[in-house]
Amino acid sequence: MHISRPQPQRITAKNIIVDIDDTLWPLAPTLHDELSLHYSIPPVSEWSDFGWWKKFMTIEEFWTISTGISLRQDQYDPYPEAHIFLLAIKEMGFNPIIASHRKAITSSATQKFIIKNELACGHLHISQDKTVLFDQNCIAVIDDNPDILEKAAMRGIPAFGLKCPWNREKRDHLYDNLFDILDCIKALKDQPTEILA
Ligand SMILES: [Mg+2]
Repeated sequence: MHISRPQPQRITAKNIIVDIDDTLWPLAPTLHDELSLHYSIPPVSEWSDFGWWKKFMTIEEFWTISTGISLRQDQYDPYPEAHIFLLAIKEMGFNPIIASHRKAITSSATQKFIIKNELACGHLHISQDKTVLFDQNCIAVIDDNPDILEKAAMRGIPAFGLKCPWNREKRDHLYDNLFDILDCIKALKDQPTEILA
């Protein structure tokens, strides 16, 4: 009787969740300029945690200004490599879901940003909680927010991000540019896994 060895399962999940702010475009310098008009705040290099701004303003005040920027999202340029990055993900057979923690009223400007810059996007998700996307169909998460990276990792989902002052305490899986993250996605593509399949 022949008994075949069980083969490791291949990844069957398809979705890769890609953040917008400080992942596909550099929000921080613009946010600094806008906030500086109203508050005396430190330079971006001193934004040492994701909630640094709470010492300087209320959450309502922060959201008013950050939403104002998001409402003009189509006027800002993405990182130069963002187009190629998302296209490469799509060409690998994955489904890039662009997901951002922002208000629904910013949806139109965000869609324009995606279309204008030809960013490959299977679905645009705008909400106050992108972790609803962290399910069995999700192969990877790309975000600069250390809390989001942690939540993905806790669910066994590989998570990567660009290095920023507010995530410098998180040492692993942070990179200088999107091409380095793309190399990680390529490595995932052919990697057998029993966790994600
Ligand atoms: Mg972000």
